[in-house]
Amino acid sequence: MLPQVNAKRLAETFTTLCEIYSPSRKEGEVAAHLTALFRDELHPTAIYEDDSAARTGSDCGNLIFSFAGDPQRTPLFFNCHMDTVTPCDNVKVRFDGASFTSAGDTILGADDKAGIAMLIEMMRVLRETSTPHAPLELIFTTCEEIGLLGAKNLDYGKIKAAMGLALDSAGVDVVVVGAPAANRFTLTIRGVAAHAGLHPEQGVSAIQLASQAIAGLDLGRLDDESTANIGLISGGTATNIIPEQVLLHGEVRSHCDDKLQQYTDRIEWRFRETIDSWRDNNPGAPALPPMDWKVCKEYPSVKFDQNEPLLALLNRAATALDRPITHRISGGGSDANIFNGHGLKTAILGIGMAKVHTTDESIAINDMIRTTELIISIATS
Ligand SMILES: [Zn+2]
Repeated sequence: MLPQVNAKRLAETFTTLCEIYSPSRKEGEVAAHLTALFRDELHPTAIYEDDSAARTGSDCGNLIFSFAGDPQRTPLFFNCHMDTVTPCDNVKVRFDGASFTSAGDTILGADDKAGIAMLIEMMRVLRETSTPHAPLELIFTTCEEIGLLGAKNLDYGKIKAAMGLALDSAGVDVVVVGAPAANRFTLTIRGVAAHAGLHPEQGVSAIQLASQAIAGLDLGRLDDESTANIGLISGGTATNIIPEQVLLHGEVRSHCDDKLQQYTDRIEWRFRETIDSWRDNNPGAPALPPMDWKVCKEYPSVKFDQNEPLLALLNRAATALDRPITHRISGGGSDANIFNGHGLKTAILGIGMAKVHTTDESIAINDMIRTTELIISIATS
């Protein structure tokens, strides 16, 4: 028999968290709130704030709250991010008896404060019922929404558990067991500036070169596990100047590392090939400066095989509640990608949040209770 979740307390904790202002890089207030709450009420064996703030630009570091548990059980961690997307000024939580929303002019912040509230409720329940549980670490990161910066700069040496769950996905009783790796690229195409009316033959349009290359690219869904996008483009200075430069930003994602590399290389090749053939076809034209191409590995993929011990633990925990768990593959990246890249086996658990990153964001109290029951079952399995 699992200890009972206190629904009213869970709702209050969640509301309080949502109404604390915490966009990316300004998580300090919510971090201070959590530190005081854990220190005064839940008495972790260790409270640690890392020194990532200097590198992320946040006003606080990542937080780790450690709880000693039954040494016979496998240590586990749970992770949530403390930051929210915007608009998040003066969030006012509305509750109609079933679901939480914002007043309509801001996001709600269930992404990811619903997860944080569930972890607080879990620790309260475990503590007041003295239920034996695994050694636990709760990891709260900064700057997830602006490029997983907190996770990328987390002090991994402090984490003892080798596996855990990120509470940061839609759905209930759903676990994400696969997520793609991503490359981000920046590209500068250079032409030659000239007066467009007086000396057009002295110029080469960077906009035209870029357009020719882009027209020959495969973008969007490339296959059942890969996507590509050029999301930003800028260039040119005036209508009477042949544009000298175009700047492009894009990304490639794939669940397969080889394909990620191949598709990224193919985009680079297409731009180089367009410029080379333009040179070949215009031998008398002004010389073209070289293009600039930069790729950075944004995050590695998440991939679990079916006999992963973490999934077995999850199944056991769900079975104890008489529920099935659905496995899902995601198209997005999150802190879990970075954790897995550091050797921490991290699956992503659905927490019931819906329409995230919009002012229609919502979450149902029943889904929050359900997920809290599940994580209690996981921690005590
Ligand atoms: Zn999130």
